Amino acid sequence: MSFSIYLYDEKGNLLPDSFNLGELITKAMVSLLKINLNNMRIYMKIIPVKVLPKLQSISQELPSIVNLEPQYGYIEITITDKKTIIYRHVHSFEEIIALSLDSSLQDKNVKEKIIGFSFTKQIRHLSSFFEPSQSIAYPVSNRSVLSNMKPLFRIQRLKEDPLPLVSFDDFKIIKEVPYDYDRRDFVKIMIFENAYMNLMSYTFYSNKYEEGGFLLGHSFRDTLAKDTYFLLLTDIKKAEYTHSSMVHLVYTPETFSRINQVIREERPKKQLLGWYHTHLFPATDDFGLSTIDLNLHFTTFKKPWQIAGLINIAHNNHLVLRFYVRKNDKMIQSPFWIIDNFQSQELNL
Ligand SMILES: [Zn+2]
Repeated sequence: MSFSIYLYDEKGNLLPDSFNLGELITKAMVSLLKINLNNMRIYMKIIPVKVLPKLQSISQELPSIVNLEPQYGYIEITITDKKTIIYRHVHSFEEIIALSLDSSLQDKNVKEKIIGFSFTKQIRHLSSFFEPSQSIAYPVSNRSVLSNMKPLFRIQRLKEDPLPLVSFDDFKIIKEVPYDYDRRDFVKIMIFENAYMNLMSYTFYSNKYEEGGFLLGHSFRDTLAKDTYFLLLTDIKKAEYTHSSMVHLVYTPETFSRINQVIREERPKKQLLGWYHTHLFPATDDFGLSTIDLNLHFTTFKKPWQIAGLINIAHNNHLVLRFYVRKNDKMIQSPFWIIDNFQSQELNL
């Protein structure tokens, strides 16, 4: 079956070219993964989870892309090589279309500032996307998109005590993970050995679907490096959701109300340090967290030190664990170390 994508200008006029969705996806994946996809199969599943209308842009020079069918917000892309899944990931529809149209639009010298896309030639609600005030509210950049998204849940803020002070030497490091780190890094993560074994055990994860959950533990201020933090990661809680798809972790409020309950039960002992999830493809330097991951993190985890753990699972079950923390509108990697499980008493926890 072949799907066409139709494009519209800001005024809602249909643009002359239409595109084949399969070809667009292939193009987007080649540009994202930078691998040759010949002889591989690409499957797509359009996921009827609504997105908030927003603009996706890849660069300042190119038009922003908006999904005119926001009820179909996401697309799961699976790439297989002789039946082995080498990539499976959920992307926002805009992201895929923006990535793939990039070069086509450049060639055609398109003058439009905003381009809408749809599966049909009949557009409804178009005007609501393009009211003049909105084009001011959404300048052409990813940043404004993030700030316009509503958080999915809020953890009720109880009055918090100032974080306790510790220094690097307070932790009994049993395994140094080879890492290019600086002790003045904004967030340094110490992981209980048990929690680390959990995170790094491939039997803990599905090799068919992306999964995720929450990271619990304690946060501290660093005695020696001002305005930097230590996180002590003690527990991994797998998210509970009924549908095996990352979209449900990211966008199902029930998942979050459940973790709120877990946190309440653990309080005041544990804090929510952040979240983690898997990617079913090998880690590369260029491809860490994806756009929907950033959206989730920025809209949901508001404490500056909260982290996102990412586990890339390659098809030979090789796991790569990385942690990210927010720095302005980006997520940067944070170093981690593995420490003795039994150290909690010395730290007065
Ligand atoms: Zn992800």
